[in-house]
Amino acid sequence: MPKKKTRALRCPTCRTIVLAGDPEFPFCSERCRLIDLGKWASGGYVISTPITDPEQLENMAEEQAKKNPNDNDEDAQ
Ligand SMILES: [Zn+2]
Repeated sequence: MPKKKTRALRCPTCRTIVLAGDPEFPFCSERCRLIDLGKWASGGYVISTPITDPEQLENMAEEQAKKNPNDNDEDAQ
């Protein structure tokens, strides 16, 4: 008889133990799932700030061109 290990995780939102069979796994409830999604949507992770100044964009493009004269070195290693 194989030993069945109960898989469980803690809800990322409220730290309640959630079993793997739960329909909302790894969250304990739909509410916690939505709260976690809301964290992502509300800017918890800021990736970049859009630059709207055309002069600054031009300067950045020049800097990039200086650093990477050949911009096609994918999988160089
Ligand atoms: Zn929860």
